[in-house]
Amino acid sequence: EFLQNDKNITTYALNTFKPEDNILKEIRERAKKLDIPGIHVSDMDGKHLEILISMAKAEKVVEVGTLAGYSGICIARGMRNKGVLHTIEIEQKHFEAAAQSFKNAKVDHLVKQHLGSALSVLAELEKEAPFDAIFIDADKVSYPDYLTWAEKNIKIGGVIIADNTFAWGHINDSHFETLELEKQVKSIREFNYRIANNSQFIATILPTGEGLTVGVRVS
Ligand code: SAM
Repeated sequence: EFLQNDKNITTYALNTFKPEDNILKEIRERAKKLDIPGIHVSDMDGKHLEILISMAKAEKVVEVGTLAGYSGICIARGMRNKGVLHTIEIEQKHFEAAAQSFKNAKVDHLVKQHLGSALSVLAELEKEAPFDAIFIDADKVSYPDYLTWAEKNIKIGGVIIADNTFAWGHINDSHFETLELEKQVKSIREFNYRIANNSQFIATILPTGEGLTVGVRVS
């Protein structure tokens, strides 16, 4: 059992480290009103993102899957007012909500939003490589493709971070309720397996509730 699943410990961590301020809280509420799915990173993972980006001293960052801008704000805060975050989103409604969020959080000067399918925007961004960090949090079946891009375009010393890598608790299942879930789980497994076994990376899965895979490129 991961301790993070213990309610007492979760409450303690949240009360002590207070990962979510009013700016972030407002995004969850506004997204709900706009009928945008509440699939933002968890409050603690938002904080983890900010810290990882800050530790990597990342100033050139890519995010795959903007939604309403919650994780983008965490990343931008970790950049400490320097650099550029390219964030990619396929849904116009999410893109617009995120623009509002970045403005409210006063990080819009650090963020370049891209509307479109991640793989085609990533292909465009390649000319600006290498990047210091990438946060992967969009369609799960494309995680292996996003990894292929990241392996090529993240600098030595840079980091790859991916969310939901316990596949909502299904990562080690052998039977699946739907074919869609099976495809998603197998893609996330492939992602984890490849980064874990790539000798150019030191990688781990941080056992946060959702599972946050982190790899640092070392060669
Ligand atoms: N990172 C966001 C956060 O924590 O605030 C959550 C992202 S949400 C889990 C995934 C987002 O990826 C959705 O807004 C979805 O529309 C977008 N998405 C899905 N497939 C995509 C694709 N192929 N290209 C770009 N965005 C995509």
